[in-house]
Amino acid sequence: MAIKRTQDPALSPVRTPAAPQEQAVFEQSLRPKSLGEYIGQSKIKGHLSMHIQAAKSRKEPLGHTLLHGPPGLGKTTLAHILAREMGAQIRITSGPALEKPGDLASILSNLQVGDTLFIDEIHRLRPVVEEMLYSAMEDYALDLVIGKGPTARSMRINLQPFTLVGATTKPGSMSAPLRDRFINHFKLAFYELLEMQSIVERSAELLNAPLETSAAHRIAESSRATPRIANRLLRSIRDYAHVQGLGTIDYACVESTLLALDIDSRGLDATDRAILNTVVTMFNGGPVGLSTIAAILAEEEETVEDVYEPYLLQQGLLQRTPKGRTATKRTYEVLGMTIPEQVQVTLF
Ligand code: ADP
Repeated sequence: MAIKRTQDPALSPVRTPAAPQEQAVFEQSLRPKSLGEYIGQSKIKGHLSMHIQAAKSRKEPLGHTLLHGPPGLGKTTLAHILAREMGAQIRITSGPALEKPGDLASILSNLQVGDTLFIDEIHRLRPVVEEMLYSAMEDYALDLVIGKGPTARSMRINLQPFTLVGATTKPGSMSAPLRDRFINHFKLAFYELLEMQSIVERSAELLNAPLETSAAHRIAESSRATPRIANRLLRSIRDYAHVQGLGTIDYACVESTLLALDIDSRGLDATDRAILNTVVTMFNGGPVGLSTIAAILAEEEETVEDVYEPYLLQQGLLQRTPKGRTATKRTYEVLGMTIPEQVQVTLF
């Protein structure tokens, strides 16, 4: 029986707007709760556990910490773990949610000693809101201007010492004054295959979905080195196994689900392949600008740049040059195409 190829939006690396609450509950249920449970990123964990130990022994909050890396690598999870390991409460918000300085002021003034404030997508803070953070981060104080015109006066309100954890997919879009106020900067890397396999096996256990080792390995290979994708994939495969009446997820079940979802043996989905095809077929290997690729794919530039490209770049399937995106020899290999002679000399 032929399996219909469809792209399941739930498997897109983008945070899907469909049923966001259900997705959030699902993700939360799989979130590691301690540094010990958090798989991979060993260097970052080593630094953090040292900073946590030092801060606890000095009875001070942890220094403000910036986490950056592509979506789904575990920034939010790490922020929760930091708060928990410090024995503190966490307040969660995001750059776009803080529309006015008053929104931030009310959150900051309600923080208790040692609390963690997590701001996701911190690069999207509006400048007026961002400026308010400067004194809050540096002096634990809020500088407010009361009134307007000649009668305006400024007032300083003291805050409780707190830790700001910022997460961003685009550290380069943050202003230098904000970036420099973070004491710790950590870049999350894509996960190794064995780490991904451990993540899949851990999630399967939590979901009570037994799976064979070969099946876990296959899911790990197809997850773009990203835990969020591994978990979503596992969720679909679990449903597929359930419908098929399988007690244990096996290799064949994973293969069938991947085929149905149009995910290839490298974990590339239809959009990934469309990006590569655009560069190779329509632009003869490039260079081609980001805005052109996004327009052809009917995607937002930001989505192509922040969500799809990092993995393609890491895999050596795409290059960023000052003139635009170009293909590599590997791109042609992966697409199963021969490199035209005139392109060969220009390829990396
Ligand atoms: P980000 O904030 O970077 O977009 P999240 O922290 O929301 O990513 O992680 C997405 C999902 O991936 C979480 O539900 C979590 O279960 C899982 N996850 C992320 N990092 C790890 C890890 N190191 N070990 C195990 N699971 C992880």
